[in-house]
Amino acid sequence: MSLRGYSIEDVIEVLEKSGYTVALVGAGFSSEAGIEIPSPSSPRLWSLYGKYHTLQGFLSNPRDAWKYYTRLIKEILEIKLCPPYKELKQLIRQGFIQSIITTNIDGLFRKFGLNNVIELHGSILKAKCLEGEEIVYWNKPPENIPPQCSDGEHILRPAIVFYGEKISYRQWIRAVVETGMAEALLVIGFSGKIAPSNMLPLIVKRNKGEIIVIDPSPSPVTQIADIWIESSASHTLKQLVKKLCH
Ligand SMILES: [Zn+2]
Repeated sequence: MSLRGYSIEDVIEVLEKSGYTVALVGAGFSSEAGIEIPSPSSPRLWSLYGKYHTLQGFLSNPRDAWKYYTRLIKEILEIKLCPPYKELKQLIRQGFIQSIITTNIDGLFRKFGLNNVIELHGSILKAKCLEGEEIVYWNKPPENIPPQCSDGEHILRPAIVFYGEKISYRQWIRAVVETGMAEALLVIGFSGKIAPSNMLPLIVKRNKGEIIVIDPSPSPVTQIADIWIESSASHTLKQLVKKLCH
C-alpha cells in the first residue's frame, strides 16, 4: 500500500516522458460505460448466461445463444461515446497513448472509431463461420436467428474466445510485440487475474518501463505498479485530459 501517495501529476510526468505508451484495458473500464459482460467473477450473470460463453453451451442451443448475443449486440450498438472512452480517445488523438490492448469483448473501442486496438478475446460485434473462414461485422443486430454464413450452409458463432478456448496466437503475438515496445503501460480496470494477458505487464517491467495502474481496487498488477491511482477510469482520465490536452 506504499503506492497510495501517488498523484495525477506523477502520471502526467510519465506520459510526457514516454515515447510509446500502451493502454491495457479490462472489464473495469467498460463497466463504467454501463456494460457488464458475464464472467465467472460475476456469479449472478454467470449463472444465467455463462453457458453461452462456452463452446459446448453455444453448440447445445445456438438459437437461444444467439437470442442472448443479439440482445447484447443491440445494447452495445446503442451506446454513445461516453466517459471514460471519450477521454481515452482524446489522449490517443493527442499522441499520449499509441495503442490499446483489451480483454473486453464488447467491441466498444472499434465502435467508437479507435483502430489501433488489439482485442485479445475477440469481439461480440463480429461473428465467424463455425466451419469456414467467413467473418461478419455487425453494424446492426442479426435479423435471422441463428445467423448463417453467406453460403447458407453453416451457422455463425460470435468471434469471441469462449471460456476454455485458447486466444488467437496471432493476436497474442501482436500484443507481446506491442507491449515490448512500451516505455509506459497504462493499466486501467484490468484485474490481471486471467492468463495469458496477465503476463503483459511483466514484459514492460522486465524492459524497465513504467507501469501505471488506474483502478479503485487492488489487483495482482497493483503489486508491481510504479504508480497506482486508486480511482475510477472516468475520473482519472478526465483529470489527465484536462491537464494534458489543450
Ligand atoms: Zn461457412
